[in-house]
Amino acid sequence: MPDTLSRFLGGLQKNVSLKKYTTFRIGGNAKYFFIARTIPLVIKAIKVARDLRTPFFILGGGSNLVVSDKGFSGLVVHIQTKKYRIEAGKFFCEAGVSMATLVKETGKRGLSGFEWAGGLPGSVGGAIRGNAGAFKGEIKDNILWVIALDKKGREKLFLRNRCKFSYRSSLFKEKGLVILSAAFSLKKGNKRAIQSIAADHIAYRKERHPLEYPNAGSVFKNCDLKKFSLALQKKLQPAVKIDPFPVVPTAYLNDQAGLKGVRQNAIQVSVKHPNCMVNLGKGKAKDVILLMQKVKKIIKKKFGVELEQEIEFVE
Ligand SMILES: Cc1cc2nc3c(=O)[nH]c(=O)nc-3n(C[C@H](O)[C@H](O)[C@H](O)COP(=O)(O)OP(=O)(O)OC[C@H]3O[C@@H](n4cnc5c(N)ncnc54)[C@H](O)[C@@H]3O)c2cc1C
Repeated sequence: MPDTLSRFLGGLQKNVSLKKYTTFRIGGNAKYFFIARTIPLVIKAIKVARDLRTPFFILGGGSNLVVSDKGFSGLVVHIQTKKYRIEAGKFFCEAGVSMATLVKETGKRGLSGFEWAGGLPGSVGGAIRGNAGAFKGEIKDNILWVIALDKKGREKLFLRNRCKFSYRSSLFKEKGLVILSAAFSLKKGNKRAIQSIAADHIAYRKERHPLEYPNAGSVFKNCDLKKFSLALQKKLQPAVKIDPFPVVPTAYLNDQAGLKGVRQNAIQVSVKHPNCMVNLGKGKAKDVILLMQKVKKIIKKKFGVELEQEIEFVE
């Protein structure tokens, strides 16, 4: 099998450590690893994997992942397609373009719509799949269309209203479709104002997020206010924020529950942002799992809600 895979995919690498491809710097090796720099190569890698019945995993910017300590025994396709163009107030791009590029390139042309994403790590493909959001914005807000591969390997165009975007989810996530490219509509605005809002968000993240340690962003989703008892809904009101519906930030709950700084070997609940976990050195996926279980148990006991995981495990 391995030789067959190499025969069809020039440039295929074997036993590649996934640590350096994720922001959490955790995990073992990918048995097979392929960097796809063009859309035809993304399509080909997936077709080869499907034809040879090899499990595959799509890696974007690696900013939302916990890779198993045992690694991944199939093919990792790292999407590195970086083409984009801006035309008539629209941004057309391939899935491997970074969100940082999107924010920077639209901002410097005075195009408004992505100020909220200042400092958001990862690729456009990863952001669309998880409908990434922050500061009251979500990637869905400006989408015109997405081109993705269906389960049979056919390229399909999905207009915005067919993408089934919801809180940190989409049709692409539900159905496991691979995003190839997308188009966004933007509004003409004041260049200085747009750039300054994005810069403020970058600065806010630097101050509030534990960027000095490897991490994967928020470990759990924020909690829908409706899930708390009526008495708690009243009590928690001062902490409620709109994201994009009323939620109680999990960072707040973890803080109230005294979880800041709690450790499981080299994995720690961040003191700076208690809904993040940081890797203090030789962090293991198994320690992330144990610490998550501990946090969930304590939050359930104290607030009666079940935390839902936001980060994704690769195994
Ligand atoms: C410091 C920090 C702050 C963060 N802040 C936020 C925040 O404010 N809001 C927020 O929503 N998230 C946040 N995140 C999480 C993360 O940045 C987002 O989830 C991001 O959109 C993931 O994109 P990625 O390219 O890194 O995806 P990856 O981590 O590489 O992959 C995530 C999932 O997307 C899939 N995927 C990737 N590319 C594609 C594609 N082309 N087609 C189909 N599936 C694909 C992968 O298979 C995987 O299932 C933060 C993370 C960090 C480290």
